[in-house]
Amino acid sequence: RRAEIAMYDAKDSQEWLVPYRAGRDEGHLRQLAIVATLPAALARDELTLHYQAKADMGSGLIAQAEALVRWLHPQFGFLPPDEFITVIEQSGNIAMLTAWIIDRAARQCREWLSQGLDIKVSVNLSALDLLNDELPALLERCLHQYQLSPRQLGLEVTESAVMRDPASALAVLARLRETGFGLSIDDFGTGYSSLAQLKRMPVDELKIDKSFVLHLNESSDDRVIVKSTIDLAHTLGLKVVAEGVETVDAWHCLRQLGCDVAQGYLIAKPLAPAEFERFLRANGQSCVTLTEAAA
Ligand code: C2E
Ligand code: MG
Ligand code: MG
Repeated sequence: RRAEIAMYDAKDSQEWLVPYRAGRDEGHLRQLAIVATLPAALARDELTLHYQAKADMGSGLIAQAEALVRWLHPQFGFLPPDEFITVIEQSGNIAMLTAWIIDRAARQCREWLSQGLDIKVSVNLSALDLLNDELPALLERCLHQYQLSPRQLGLEVTESAVMRDPASALAVLARLRETGFGLSIDDFGTGYSSLAQLKRMPVDELKIDKSFVLHLNESSDDRVIVKSTIDLAHTLGLKVVAEGVETVDAWHCLRQLGCDVAQGYLIAKPLAPAEFERFLRANGQSCVTLTEAAA
């Protein structure tokens, strides 16, 4: 088994010789277990969605949230989404997970609406989701089932997801845009899309990756990158969301640079639905105090 793992590692690498590395076997078994336990875990709601607020930088209003998946695995404990999503993508099961996430996010959005909380909920799509032609129909069924309008659901896709197979991805995105879903490019700045590519993407919003935002106040390079991204996005008619806003200084700086929406620990961490509701109600669905503090 270990020899086989080394063989696959060798095929993936450009090396002439790849020895078996300690720990790869355990890692491989862990990956197999993650994939094998997914269907039952979904059926048992062992996975959950947490919601992170996005605040309008002008008004302080919180009218949007990003759904982020969490898995407390009975054997492995808390699994970071970056880890299990990659494994599930590689195993070819991502459509099953994404369908579950979309269903739960839409159901939550409907529940909040019924309670008088109008929150647009965004879900993250994986690269392979964009190559799935059944995705638009699945989303439309969800709208119908939960009586939602498409503007109440947003979809976040990364630049690199689009770059994998631009023609097919752009076709799916165009169909989703036509239906009226809000589309965002996630982690902007970490991929390699060209300006020509960006211009062709049928999206409404750019999310600047947190790696440029976290050190905004210490790094003049990051400030220049963030400023140019905001200017570029606005020129193309796109809104800009900054992720990873952790400090009042960062908020202040982003506001000066004309950023539209902020997301980060300064406003709220990703919260379980009940906590998210408490947070919204306690603040009257706004973080005006924050905008005032920063003014
Ligand atoms: P992402 O979509 O860019 O999500 C933002 C990540 O930044 C989240 O990590 C969030 O908890 C974290 N974050 C938010 N505010 C701050 C901040 O102020 N400071 C710092 N240091 N971090 C902050 P998380 O939840 O661990 O998710 C990581 C990535 O996993 C996501 O990146 C996304 O690519 C993926 N992911 C999460 N949930 C889903 C999902 O439901 N479906 C898919 N396909 N991918 C998901
Ligand atoms: Mg995201
Ligand atoms: Mg992101």
